[in-house]
Amino acid sequence: MGAGFRGVTSRRAKTVGGDCRERVGIVCHPGVGVAPRSMVCLGDMTADDKVIGALLGLALGDALGATTEFMARSEVRRRWPEGHREIVGGGVFGWAAGAVTDDTDMALCLVRGIRRAGVGAEVGVLVRAVGEEFMRWRARNPPDIGNTVRLALRLFEEAGDWERVADGVRERLGERAGGNGALMRTLPVSLFWPADERRIVDVGLAVSRMTHPHPEADFCSVAYNLLVAHLVRGGEKESSVAKALARAATVAPTPSRFEGFLDRVFRIDANAISSSGYCVDTLEAALYCFLHERDAEGCIVRAANLGDDADTVAAVAGGLAGAFHGRSGLPSRWLERLDARVHAEILEAFARA
Ligand SMILES: [Mg+2]
Repeated sequence: MGAGFRGVTSRRAKTVGGDCRERVGIVCHPGVGVAPRSMVCLGDMTADDKVIGALLGLALGDALGATTEFMARSEVRRRWPEGHREIVGGGVFGWAAGAVTDDTDMALCLVRGIRRAGVGAEVGVLVRAVGEEFMRWRARNPPDIGNTVRLALRLFEEAGDWERVADGVRERLGERAGGNGALMRTLPVSLFWPADERRIVDVGLAVSRMTHPHPEADFCSVAYNLLVAHLVRGGEKESSVAKALARAATVAPTPSRFEGFLDRVFRIDANAISSSGYCVDTLEAALYCFLHERDAEGCIVRAANLGDDADTVAAVAGGLAGAFHGRSGLPSRWLERLDARVHAEILEAFARA
């Protein structure tokens, strides 16, 4: 275990609903071997603290950032001089406190699709299953579907085939297909196969390209997935970032922003960090917050206070913070606020009997 390992206290374990004690167990991830894990007790079930933490971190970042989405950074500072740090909802869509947005919704579509198809399914089968979940989600008329995803899902209705959808998006958007809509939802790919980089790359690319067929989206989704996988396996922050960026460079050209990134990330002025809806901006901002902050709360708060596409940047940063610090490192007051249905689905998603 790296320095990021943190055990689960028995007090915390009891609050989840079991009378179990902290334990470090041996867990078999489907098809990927055996690894020592910090386990958290969920009633009669157990789950990996970092795996669950990653998904919860994403949801908490999304819920915190929902308030500041589309807000100018100067306005965030004016309204919260001490920082926006409580999950209170509101924002442009008038969210209830604890509600999550499209980032978590679509990540949970991946969870459901992959579980339904089976973790051993061929990539094409996984893509179709995830796509069915996207279409189910769209049928519920969520208020906040991003433009690129909206286009892709409309094209799927006409074409019924994800490769043709990708061609259609590429044709219509070209360079503008590099939005952050694939990066924001890709986290679960890391959690099903944390020790199988080949599988992460294959599934991550296929699922990303369903809606965002662009080399920069390829790079960002793969780099993020591999980084999360390193972190849930107990990797250190900087070495995990270095390995993930290097491996992502083998599947897509490295955006110039990530050339020599670790050599200068601690010298970048915070004001130079953009939190737009462009995938390169989002990944850079999330990495910046993750590397600059010592704990999960600090990382997620910093991201949500960037404004603009704050919910997505905080969701992406929150996934990293949760993967590194684990569920036990996330603020309990936020977990208590998180939408109960979403919270329960996340806990159940990776629980083991
Ligand atoms: Mg969102």
